[in-house]
Amino acid sequence: MQETSKQKIFIEENVKTILTSLRSLETKYQRPLNSVKLLAVSKTKPIEDILVAHMAGQKHFGENYVQEAIEKIALHHSGLNWHFIGPIQKNKTRLIAENFQWVHSVDRLVIAKRLNDQRPNSLPALQICIQVNVDNETSKAGVTLDEVEDLANELAGLENISLRGLMAIPHASSDINEQRHSFAKLRKKLEHLNQGGFELDTLSMGMSNDLEAAIAEGATIVRVGTAIFGKRDTKT
Ligand SMILES: *Cc1c(COP(=O)(O)O)cnc(C)c1O
Repeated sequence: MQETSKQKIFIEENVKTILTSLRSLETKYQRPLNSVKLLAVSKTKPIEDILVAHMAGQKHFGENYVQEAIEKIALHHSGLNWHFIGPIQKNKTRLIAENFQWVHSVDRLVIAKRLNDQRPNSLPALQICIQVNVDNETSKAGVTLDEVEDLANELAGLENISLRGLMAIPHASSDINEQRHSFAKLRKKLEHLNQGGFELDTLSMGMSNDLEAAIAEGATIVRVGTAIFGKRDTKT
């Protein structure tokens, strides 16, 4: 399928616009330059869209559905980094361990152990974030804030995975102060772990609608879908 030039220009301009706004938000909130990385969330979007974003300089892509992601990775993987950010079923861990560089959505030891055991020895350790349900929503995956430290300690013994930090999807709000309040809970938890001896460098937080709040509270990876690729047809 040939990408229409209109869609191509749309994606290219969105990537540029978001990168520019990440840099200016870093300045605004006294964050070091380039301390916020852009993860382009390409779920439901065709490989053609991913290639356009790649041509515009984007290298990290996030996917939520294993089967869909594997098909895209098979079409194009050289030079790209793939991050799994969706719910993880037990029977999908092998495909994730074999095909991704990062997993942001680990919230159970059993899943972490399977990823660890199934990670091919020929590959570097799988980079992991623990997903935290910061606002205690029944609809959301993730451990509670109170459970994070135990799970982090349990992951420490697993050699083929490397715990890098924490990820959250806060409750939806259009109020920047409310958004910041949720993200601050994740930041404080990371700081607490690091005071206890962990060396975690990643806060995966912030999406198209709450980027500024996330960066203000220390996000190091923002996961942006809609603002790059446009609206998704399917609801997720
Ligand atoms: C879909 C999704 C995103 C991107 O959301 P947008 O609002 O489209 O930017 C980010 N993180 C996760 C975990 C997602 O599922």
